[in-house]
Amino acid sequence: VATLFDDPLNGRMPLYDPADVLRDSLARVAGMPRDRNCQRCPLGAAAKNPCLVGRDGSPGAPLVVGGNPTQHDDLSGFLLEQGLSAVVATAVKRAWAGDWRMVWAVGCPGPVEQVSIDACRPYLAAELAAGPQRVVLLGPVAAQAVIGVAIDARRLRRAWAEVRGVPCFVVQDVRVTAYNRHLRKWFDNDVQWAFQAPLTSAPRGEVRVALSAAEACTLLSEIKRGEALVVDGEWASSPWAKDFRMLCLGFCQDPDRPFVIPDQMVDQSVRDALRGVLEDPLVPKVNQWIKSDRHAIWRAYGVDMIGIEWDTMLASKLQESDAPAGLGALSWRIGMGGYKEIGQEDAEDEG
Ligand code: SF4
Repeated sequence: VATLFDDPLNGRMPLYDPADVLRDSLARVAGMPRDRNCQRCPLGAAAKNPCLVGRDGSPGAPLVVGGNPTQHDDLSGFLLEQGLSAVVATAVKRAWAGDWRMVWAVGCPGPVEQVSIDACRPYLAAELAAGPQRVVLLGPVAAQAVIGVAIDARRLRRAWAEVRGVPCFVVQDVRVTAYNRHLRKWFDNDVQWAFQAPLTSAPRGEVRVALSAAEACTLLSEIKRGEALVVDGEWASSPWAKDFRMLCLGFCQDPDRPFVIPDQMVDQSVRDALRGVLEDPLVPKVNQWIKSDRHAIWRAYGVDMIGIEWDTMLASKLQESDAPAGLGALSWRIGMGGYKEIGQEDAEDEG
């Protein structure tokens, strides 16, 4: 029976490939120039200015993508700074002194249905291919059209993802926030974040998988004191259940060079090396919900993790106690969302 360990190429795997993870994003849609007489979906029939561009911007300027234009925008032929559109324009001007461009995920006014989102996507694909420095997505329709996931920014704040190498930041829907003074502040604040957040790119790198006990020991010996070390266990069942089984341990000090030690590679020499790192209080340990990793590692290898310094789940709950703080949610905050859902879909397909 072939296993992971038979193929040396399996020792290195891409850390994250947005094009593979965000399968329904614009990355796979061919661009098309705007057609001011577009009738690709039923909304075009009633529009005065189909395929509207709300505001022109110079090449590379940030791009704001709204849900769809108001009747007033459509009648005027541009982003009319009245009502809802004024709320958007005011928030952007407060956040950004430079040039910006505005389009909509659906380029005509009226009730939005999936057929219009799909029909309009080639225009958006061309917008992204033009290389804006960043994209600000206002609401779930814009997020669905660009990222391929209808993120609700009221539940999941500050989500972003790379599409075609362009960072796309998700903000709440102005239609929901404009008439509530609390949500309005929230909206203004998030627009500021979307325009001013540093343009970091999602981690690239490779995951190295230790294919022998000796390799596992070498990788563990490279861990340095005084630098945060992510320690993550994957297991079957529960650390408290009879049928618990450790599958692998993941470690990361350099974001581009994480490594994994499969349970099959853990012999006495690796246990000793693990003890040297995990029981060393001068190596600060961090992870999401790290107390379960501590339990599981103790149960599997009899090694006690000492020097726990940070837990992203607890930190998130301290910041926003009513927001979801699971890994599937938090991964969107570092531009790496989507993989949990895709992994789940793949597992169900294989099942
Ligand atoms: S909504 Fe988009 S696809 Fe539909 S007619 Fe208007 S511009 Fe064309």
